[in-house]
Amino acid sequence: MGRLLTRSHDLEETLENVVRLVARWMHAGGCSIYLSEDDGSTLVLRATRGLRPECVGQLRLRVGEGIVGAALESRETIAVPDWQRDDRFRLFPESGEERFRSLVAVPLIMRGMPMGVLTVQTARPRTFSAEELELLETISAQVASIIMNARLIALVAREGNIEPRSAARPEPFAAGTILRGIASSPGIAAGPVHLQRPQLDLDSLRYQPAASRRGEWRAVQSALRQTIRQLGDLRTAVGERLGEDFADVFTTHIMILEDQTFRQRLERHVAEHGDGARALREVLEDYSSIFAATPDPTIRERADDIRDVIGRVIEELVGVRQHNPPLRDGVIVVADWISPSDFVLLETEKIAGMITAHGGPASHASIFARSLEIPAVTGLPDLLERIRPTDRVIANGLDGEVIVNPTPEVLEEYQQRAQGFRRLWGRLDELRDLPSCTLDGREIRLSANIGGLNDLALAEHYGARGVGLFRTEILALSSRGFPDEDEQTRVYRNVAQRVAPDPVSIRTFDMGGDKAFPGEGVQERNPQLGWRSIRFLLDREDVFACQLRAILRANDPGNIRILIPMITSMDELDQTRAILAEQCERLGLSKLPPLGVMIETPAAVSIADHIATVVDFFAIGTNDLVQYVLAMDRENERIAASYDAFHPAVLAQIRRTSDVARAADIGCSVCGELAANPVAVPILIGMGISELSMTPFSIALVRQIVRALDTEKAEHLARSVEDCARASEVREKLWRAFVKMGLIDDRDLGPVIRRLLAARRSERRSTPPERSGMLPS
Ligand code: PEP
Ligand code: MG
Repeated sequence: MGRLLTRSHDLEETLENVVRLVARWMHAGGCSIYLSEDDGSTLVLRATRGLRPECVGQLRLRVGEGIVGAALESRETIAVPDWQRDDRFRLFPESGEERFRSLVAVPLIMRGMPMGVLTVQTARPRTFSAEELELLETISAQVASIIMNARLIALVAREGNIEPRSAARPEPFAAGTILRGIASSPGIAAGPVHLQRPQLDLDSLRYQPAASRRGEWRAVQSALRQTIRQLGDLRTAVGERLGEDFADVFTTHIMILEDQTFRQRLERHVAEHGDGARALREVLEDYSSIFAATPDPTIRERADDIRDVIGRVIEELVGVRQHNPPLRDGVIVVADWISPSDFVLLETEKIAGMITAHGGPASHASIFARSLEIPAVTGLPDLLERIRPTDRVIANGLDGEVIVNPTPEVLEEYQQRAQGFRRLWGRLDELRDLPSCTLDGREIRLSANIGGLNDLALAEHYGARGVGLFRTEILALSSRGFPDEDEQTRVYRNVAQRVAPDPVSIRTFDMGGDKAFPGEGVQERNPQLGWRSIRFLLDREDVFACQLRAILRANDPGNIRILIPMITSMDELDQTRAILAEQCERLGLSKLPPLGVMIETPAAVSIADHIATVVDFFAIGTNDLVQYVLAMDRENERIAASYDAFHPAVLAQIRRTSDVARAADIGCSVCGELAANPVAVPILIGMGISELSMTPFSIALVRQIVRALDTEKAEHLARSVEDCARASEVREKLWRAFVKMGLIDDRDLGPVIRRLLAARRSERRSTPPERSGMLPS
């Protein structure tokens, strides 16, 4: 309990933890905390185990009213073995407390100030021993002290020492509120909220230093000591989970804080003006400009570390704890936005669901969520303002709904839907060893998109035939730097050996865009159109050549293919081939592995016939292709409804790419998210695509669709959608095709297909009424 209290950074979350633990220790079905309101005459239920969660914040009673009110008024613990025999009891039926019989109410008092009441309730009448009551009183004294601290912090914030984080906070969500976002990873999860906090905004920080410079320097030193201790804990935790390489970043951080030059600079700045927070920011600026000016890229990369670590010390100094508390099992992570580098540091095995305010389904966080089978919803911009750490939520990644503090009935309903979803997956699982062949015997290779070795287990589980896309930039993001040649060789060789004899397409680092690289220090106005992928690699030939050598060295099993991202010109391709040839020669290799390019820009589609003369395969990246064809940011949730791969302009680009590949007799796969969309499969196969690469999770469903298809009919369908002017017409044709295939009414598959073909928000506005009757409401 002591550990929990010292770690607590938020009153509501702490109260929630306290009631959970006390209920467990006391073997009691109920434990609640009531806090007194500002006027001191009312008590409000603030956290509970056992009473209805929707009563939190709603259930009020006067001081003196009922046993709870009486405990606060008398400032004495009251224990009642059976309330039915006690006249003071006042029943609140809406809270569901009639199922309890015994009640202990312990007042929360801090330095003589009454603050609230902690209660414990059991279903059977019972008496509490003197030891139990003593324990409860000890806990209550601790809880009272946190409440006092939290209130003091709020007061200090109001006085202006710290930017008031909670001032004018919008109303929390009413129990049972349904929010509509965007479904970005299928499945349904329910659980307690875990708020993933954004980084501290240094610019808006206000801080009151100590009265004397000596006192301020002491405060800074203590913040440094605290931060070093925290970093040590983090290093151990990350090391245990992800290995020593990952933990090293924290060693670097500790070294920075222990460095004498760093400390001397800091002390000088504090001595100058006596403001520790300002001194830390000044040192940060000094270091950043020194690092930015150095030509050595490995030193430039450290600038982000400095920012990170100094940010932590500032937080410690000003007393605003921004660090995310450790995850509990089964939480629903709620965040503003999750970048790929945030994602790799999360303990994903503990996450039951994910809700983000920003980012569309094509964002990398959504793609990772799908590959880890974590249900996710995105596109809820007001969410973080109003959600509370004590809320419980349902994240419905099938329909894009979030339900805050659902009633038991709603929870039950969703649990049944989640069960239906699992049943479908179970059914598909049984088919996982069957070939993915169309009814007329054409084999479609279903391969996996992976981000590292860890994803291979899932790929194997779902029966992937090879790896169609290995996003190697994830390695760089997770180690916050490019792994050296030997380390890369080891990883690539491991993957190739595990997948052999099936092929592995290793895509060279696709940095930039939303996968901004720590330390490059580039702030671009339009990163999606900026220094991305191949542009970055050709400028950083050291990184590119090193990666190519690692890939070539890893190819003992002979199943590796090299895949180059974001090609827009033959010049880029010529330079790439020259660097590759040079590395081959350096390694004394006579034979190159197959070389392919991602077709993910309209430019690449336009010159695909030229590209086809010098490469061995195409991999269509529909995520970026949609973004660049439609000029719509794939990360922007506001336009997610119109970011649509069924737009006829996008389909025309896929058709052209596939035709060029066939004419040149080279392979052509689709490895963007469209490949994982079961309702797109008939069109893609009808266009002649022979390999679909996707998050392993989606393979089962796609296999089922492939097995229900006839190639000739698929070709006919693909030709017929070419005449469509609108995405809605494409969906109508697909709807009819699925009706004919008999899949629309399938008990488990039908709802999935219907949902995927349902009109989108943008279409509902524009589809003429006489035609919209074709679509389900
Ligand atoms: C794509 O753009 O479709 C693709 C597969 O690459 P990424 O999502 O990694 O940009
Ligand atoms: Mg891409």
